[in-house]
Amino acid sequence: MKTLDQLTFDNRFARLGDTFSTAVLPDPLEQPRLVVASASALALLDLPPQEAERPEFTALCAGQQLWSSAEPRAMVYSGHQFGHYNPQLGDGRGLLLGEVLNSRGEYWDLHLKGAGSTPFSRMGDGRAVLRSSIREFLASEYLAALGIPTTRAACVVASSTPVWRERQESAATLLRLSPSHLRFGHFEFFYYTRQHDALRQLVEHALDCHFPACREAEQPVAALLTEVVERSAETLALWQAYGFCHGVMNTDNMSLLGLSFDFGPYGFLDDFDAGHICNHSDDSGRYRFENQVPIAHWNLSALAQALTPLAPVEALRAALALFLPFYQAVYLDRMRRRLGLRQAESGDEVLIQRLLALMQQGGVDYSLFFRRLGDQPAAEALRVLREDFVDLAGFDAWSSDFLTRLSHESPESEAERRTRMHAVNPRYLLRNYLAQQAIAAAEQGDYAPVRELHAVLSRPFDEQPALQHYAQRPPHWGKHLAISCSS
Ligand code: AMP
Ligand code: MG
Repeated sequence: MKTLDQLTFDNRFARLGDTFSTAVLPDPLEQPRLVVASASALALLDLPPQEAERPEFTALCAGQQLWSSAEPRAMVYSGHQFGHYNPQLGDGRGLLLGEVLNSRGEYWDLHLKGAGSTPFSRMGDGRAVLRSSIREFLASEYLAALGIPTTRAACVVASSTPVWRERQESAATLLRLSPSHLRFGHFEFFYYTRQHDALRQLVEHALDCHFPACREAEQPVAALLTEVVERSAETLALWQAYGFCHGVMNTDNMSLLGLSFDFGPYGFLDDFDAGHICNHSDDSGRYRFENQVPIAHWNLSALAQALTPLAPVEALRAALALFLPFYQAVYLDRMRRRLGLRQAESGDEVLIQRLLALMQQGGVDYSLFFRRLGDQPAAEALRVLREDFVDLAGFDAWSSDFLTRLSHESPESEAERRTRMHAVNPRYLLRNYLAQQAIAAAEQGDYAPVRELHAVLSRPFDEQPALQHYAQRPPHWGKHLAISCSS
């Protein structure tokens, strides 16, 4: 373990030079206070949790101090937003502070979100408000606890610096960690501005730093795309299996590493609803829950287009064609496990689709269904769960087919089945209304609820008897909270 001042920086992206990023210093926040920190994220930097309690940590994360080896840079990128190409985006309110090399030889980007304006801020103020910073923190750390690939969040710092949105709010920062902040939009920027030498340089950088195994392939660039396709497909499969709705799947919010990235108006499904739109600003429902998979494929095609100067089109097409089969395999595997099935049978996909259709019709709580299915022997659990459905004849037919399907599995004890199911079905879900309650308290200066929620959600599969109220169904008012785009 290290202390704050012992972090080892090696700023590889900054060394690529001014074509790719611009040096910018953070604009410090006033009267910063630590809201919440993540011990498991800090451990990625070899920092013990008590380092976050030091005033220096808050000062560093508020932009008041800098690590001596940090080289803060704003990265340039572009991207497709809601299907339309926006030629100039870039880090408008976040800075890549530098790359930290940990004791396991892993690189972690330190990215300070809300660090003030940059040449890419356009009309924005370069700030992030407290509520959106807390939301990103909770999403990052909860997805990580579920085992879903994601960027991480080390902490949130609040301040007295005022910012104006629909009302006056206060500015905050989030210290984001990721092995890389490369987005699809980085490659689109150099492709559409016809800077193909720079595009090649960026791809070489990505191969060297993040995809060294692709160097061995006959077509390294196509191999890189294949890797991005597979990683993105895995992440999407887990989003769909756990009811995670990202909300703003623009290509500038897509990570080259296939990580869940840049959380805005996201939401986990309470009641199962394939058409759920979590982003209040998404009028056409482009990013609704059931559209996330085709959208990810579309986004990958946009990345492939940007790579056409560097690889044969046929090889890029072949990489893209892997997306759906790969997605489907991971999704089915996870859904089987959520249902307590260990072997694969050809009818499983239809069985899962029938269940989701029944849930949709009945407005059944998506997350609780699976957890409760594992709480008791299947036949008994189904008798209790039946009460939540409206098409009872349909549910009875499904239950009977499911029990027949379950009988094909090799025998195991009830305790074994429960342990296996509970290991993939969380008891605790990051529900919008829980986040909202914790944010309301934080806005009044009480950070205990955010810290408690984060603590519960960092062990989502474990029973936490004193905290069972976090596992309940949402109240009616909590189901349809309007959350809109970046703030
Ligand atoms: P997002 O919706 O957070 O993914 O951001 C989309 C683009 O808008 C990115 O280029 C951001 O850097 C930029 N942006 C978002 N909010 C702000 C802000 N308050 N000030 C400056 N730029 C912003
Ligand atoms: Mg973004």
